[in-house]
Amino acid sequence: MTRAQMKMLAVTAGLFGLVVVGDQRRGKLEREPVGVGRVVQESRGLIVADESKIEWTDASFNPWEGCEKVSPGCKFCYAEARDHRFTGGKHWGGKDSVRRVISTQLGNSPHRWQREQAAKNALADKLGQPRPRRPRVFCASLADVWEDRADLVERRAKLFETIRACPDLDWLVLTKRPENITRLWPKNVPPPGARDWPHLWLGCTGEDQEWLNKRLVHLLMVPAVIHFVSLEPLLGPIDLREAFAIGAAERLTVLRPREHTLDWAIIGGESGYPNQVRPFVTTWAESLIEQCRMLLIKPFVKQLGAFACVPIERWRDPSRFETRMQPDARRERTPPGLIRMFTKHPKGGDMNEWPPELRVREFPSGGFPT
Ligand code: SF4
Repeated sequence: MTRAQMKMLAVTAGLFGLVVVGDQRRGKLEREPVGVGRVVQESRGLIVADESKIEWTDASFNPWEGCEKVSPGCKFCYAEARDHRFTGGKHWGGKDSVRRVISTQLGNSPHRWQREQAAKNALADKLGQPRPRRPRVFCASLADVWEDRADLVERRAKLFETIRACPDLDWLVLTKRPENITRLWPKNVPPPGARDWPHLWLGCTGEDQEWLNKRLVHLLMVPAVIHFVSLEPLLGPIDLREAFAIGAAERLTVLRPREHTLDWAIIGGESGYPNQVRPFVTTWAESLIEQCRMLLIKPFVKQLGAFACVPIERWRDPSRFETRMQPDARRERTPPGLIRMFTKHPKGGDMNEWPPELRVREFPSGGFPT
């Protein structure tokens, strides 16, 4: 049975509530070696980084900066706060706001990363050694590539020319507007699909069941070598099968069903303002990891956030936690039946402080041999 057939079987089994036992890799993980070098520009205007602090990518690339809020997940948008702090706060909002374009020099960064990676590949080939891991480039962390604005049409076209010209990088394009992808796909490049875009991963955010249901159906209708969801900030429990079921029959009729499946789920709690962020219950993440096992999706727990909570009955077994578990002055914000966790890491990003069952960070294999 091929991998595509196994995946379709797993999805179908999952839809009908059957259990498919997956591999259970857990425990403390190190970050994989990064394929690109140092920070290019770290200043008030940082918008391109060779080495991202985001755990699931190696580098970030922002062809422009600015956006408009669309859903509850945007409430504490990091990029908006950063814009207010460093670049005048005029890049967020509707038609009266502007989008900040990066300089040509910074725009050339992916081409430099591509040259570096191609040189490493050529050397490995020459020595008869395996090629180094492909670097992952997150695009965009300070904007939404699929925002529907006339002034972004040309910029998006240039971005996709750049993606085409950098085939040795895996490009991860994440959006809260997947319903726009097909309509706004640039006309100067081939249509979406693994054949022409084996290095382009398409993703959407789903902060709760309602928004995942709305978005996943649009994302999965666009063919791609890898589809992923960012369930961060996770604001409630999610049943992946419910979101999968929407549009599933239509997807089964397409020519290459493998290009319409979900491959990867990033899970994380909200961070930012400690007194305002919304709670993240660890059992939501536990459930998602189990669902990923059933559906042959790779789970990646990024962080517990600044307001992680566990059910009160779990607290009675403190050996499960490295972190401090007790009420504090802000106890009134903790939902009933839960105990708040206090991690040393401000975003709950150190997996050594997590319950063992959440220490899961896996990646899909992508469109190339690894
Ligand atoms: S879509 Fe993303 S970048 Fe845009 S406002 Fe929402 S969180 Fe911020």
